[in-house]
Amino acid sequence: MKPETTAIHVPAKSYDGAIAPPIQLTTTFEHGPANELIHGFQYVRHATPNVNDLETRLAAMEGGVGALVFASGMAAGVALLNTLTPGSTVVFHDTIYFDFLTFSRSHLRDWGITSLVVDCGNEKALRAALEESENVALIWIETPTNPTMDLIDIEAVSTLATEHGAQTLVDGTFATPALQRPLEYGADYVLHSTTKYMGGHSDVQGGALIIRDDEAKLEALLEIRKLTGGVLAPFNAWLISRGLQTLHCRVEKHCSNASLIATMLDAHPNVERVRYPTLPGNERIDIANKQMSAGGGMLAFDVKGGRDASLKVAAALRLIVNATSLGGTESLIEHRKSIEGAESETPDNLLRLSVGLEHADDLIEDLKQALDSLDAT
Ligand SMILES: *Cc1c(COP(=O)(O)O)cnc(C)c1O
Repeated sequence: MKPETTAIHVPAKSYDGAIAPPIQLTTTFEHGPANELIHGFQYVRHATPNVNDLETRLAAMEGGVGALVFASGMAAGVALLNTLTPGSTVVFHDTIYFDFLTFSRSHLRDWGITSLVVDCGNEKALRAALEESENVALIWIETPTNPTMDLIDIEAVSTLATEHGAQTLVDGTFATPALQRPLEYGADYVLHSTTKYMGGHSDVQGGALIIRDDEAKLEALLEIRKLTGGVLAPFNAWLISRGLQTLHCRVEKHCSNASLIATMLDAHPNVERVRYPTLPGNERIDIANKQMSAGGGMLAFDVKGGRDASLKVAAALRLIVNATSLGGTESLIEHRKSIEGAESETPDNLLRLSVGLEHADDLIEDLKQALDSLDAT
């Protein structure tokens, strides 16, 4: 079955004849007098039909032995870190999603876990980190990264990890399984903020972990989720399952719009640099071609003239909205340094653009007039 078909037909549609799954908001299920499980479910914090439905879809789409969904992408990632034993080390790629780096600097240390922050796209640096510490349990990469659009070779990192007895997690939020399937390249876990493309309409928060083959870890993660309570709500699971059914067709349009915009920006005199995976001239384009089927709907560009010029461009946009988050139908722009704060190493003049599903001509016209407005000042 091709992935588009899987997204629509797994799990098989058999909800007592209904084609769309019912939303089951119940928090509890009838059980036997001695807590015998008679309906397959017990309590909302453990699992619900809508949560199981979404997990079945996600595991099939990524090709994993199982999936677990959480209240947010952060909750999903922290649950995995929560299964590590004190004394172990995690290697984080240095430009991953900012809040995971913040978490690694603060709470992870309190849990007795060492964080090494390394450019995992640099094989020498990664090897050195793995040799320096004997207890690396996990290498945590993201590709493409948010917001600098770094590309990391999943297969190369996973192979190195295996050689050193470590596992690999790939945050694949930007690419989605419609464009990139990290488990096929040797990763042990894929993480998604399902708040983004999977929900797809800027109206639901969620996160997911898909596990390639480590069933013991799947059990441990389920136990952590039951006890810490970061499970996804049934209605949110229903919305995300619904989003997955149109994921491939939405992503196709996000990609074609983004690639037209990247080409326009690349030719604009007020743009210093365009960061888009499949843009000709991208020095890591070989990695994009190897592990992604298209460039995706996210891009970033560095505006000539520094921070002030980039803020002027963001302010001059009329259609594209200044807001955080991504992957929705509407195009959103963000000066990431302003939201990431003082510790951020994101360039001062970088704007991140989540390219929506509007007509490309309207988006290009808006970006052009905003960039051209720099010449008038
Ligand atoms: C948004 C995001 C997250 C965090 O997800 P939430 O659902 O906001 O908790 C993690 N990784 C990436 C790449 C993201 O864009």
